[in-house]
Amino acid sequence: MDYYIAWFQSHLLAVVAVAFTLVLIYHYLLERESGIKLSKKYRNSIFEAQSKVFLNATQYLISGKRDLAIKEFLNAVDINRETIETYFALGGLFRSNGEIEKSISIHRSLIARENITEVNRLRALKELAVDFDKGGFVEKAIETYKDVLKINRDQYQVIQSLCRIYENIEDWDGAYNYRIMLSKFAHENQAETISHILVQKAKENLNRGNIRKCADDLEDAFRFAPSVSAKILQLRLHLFSGELEESKYLLLELLKEHPMYASFIFESLSEGVKTPNETERVEYQDRLKLIREFFLKIDDSELLNSHSVILTKVRLLKQNKQSEEALLLINRWLRENENPTEVMKAEYIKILIELNKTEEALKQTSKLLQNLHQSLTKHFCSVCGYNSDDIFWRCPQCHEWETIQFRWKV
Ligand SMILES: [Zn+2]
Repeated sequence: MDYYIAWFQSHLLAVVAVAFTLVLIYHYLLERESGIKLSKKYRNSIFEAQSKVFLNATQYLISGKRDLAIKEFLNAVDINRETIETYFALGGLFRSNGEIEKSISIHRSLIARENITEVNRLRALKELAVDFDKGGFVEKAIETYKDVLKINRDQYQVIQSLCRIYENIEDWDGAYNYRIMLSKFAHENQAETISHILVQKAKENLNRGNIRKCADDLEDAFRFAPSVSAKILQLRLHLFSGELEESKYLLLELLKEHPMYASFIFESLSEGVKTPNETERVEYQDRLKLIREFFLKIDDSELLNSHSVILTKVRLLKQNKQSEEALLLINRWLRENENPTEVMKAEYIKILIELNKTEEALKQTSKLLQNLHQSLTKHFCSVCGYNSDDIFWRCPQCHEWETIQFRWKV
């Protein structure tokens, strides 16, 4: 027995080569047999008809007539039922035409075929997953994409699609697993995105009142990248746990690093926590009040140079009905800055009206209106320009992470 194994090992290459040759000969004979059935003349006429069909279909496609293109391709399927490429093209056309059920049945029939190469079967399976995905059959799309990966893991686009789906349905565990998988194939660094996903996981745990799990996820998030969203959640977590001094320190750090996030930070903190425990929720709100007071008292010259910090202070003061203080703050800013923004001017006017300083308000308003540029939403995406008043760490339009930009709404 040992002798045979040794012989086999030393002649492995030769054995494989012979087996391979036999397979090739078998296929050659098979093809020759089916080739004989069609006379040369007949095959030529099929070729001519097919070329014509493809030419017509391409012309229809170029002129945007998808329906007619599909008709032409259907003709081609009748002429030669073995043309795999035609099926793929047809499936793709049905899908882009919104006829998902038809493309699904085409790709399913391809997968079920006996005489198809494994490469084409995998390709058909991938196309089927895309059909489900485009058709909004989320569960089936996930399942089918995973089936593709079971056959071949080196599928960048498939993994990317799974990442997108899991992020869309906010399944952060799934999103995390596939993003990690993607990072092994992707050229771009995925650390920032992974950090964001972990922050989302941590946020869910915080809302369930699960502090320890939240802290663990957050720690992992920082290990990947210290994203702004991670820092803001860290601040929220400290507030929630009652560590007020630590929270103040974190707030200062955050503001010095990202002063333009000032208003956004307080918006995020005001989201509160949704734990089932009412005492915890009330305590959080009390601490939030304290940290707002702390922020209003900050007299750091570096921070007071930031237009965002000033505007945030002004708005918080107005919420506290301290409009006189707000007016003092803006007056100081207007004295020190030669070119105040329109938002600052508008805020100034609003306070003047609130304090019944009508004459000054009118004067400022007419000055402002003469050269007003509009700004409609508070946030927009730096990549695709998506506009929203809501906070988005992941752009709902282009699905990029942390592309949010702020502008002050007039
Ligand atoms: Zn975008």
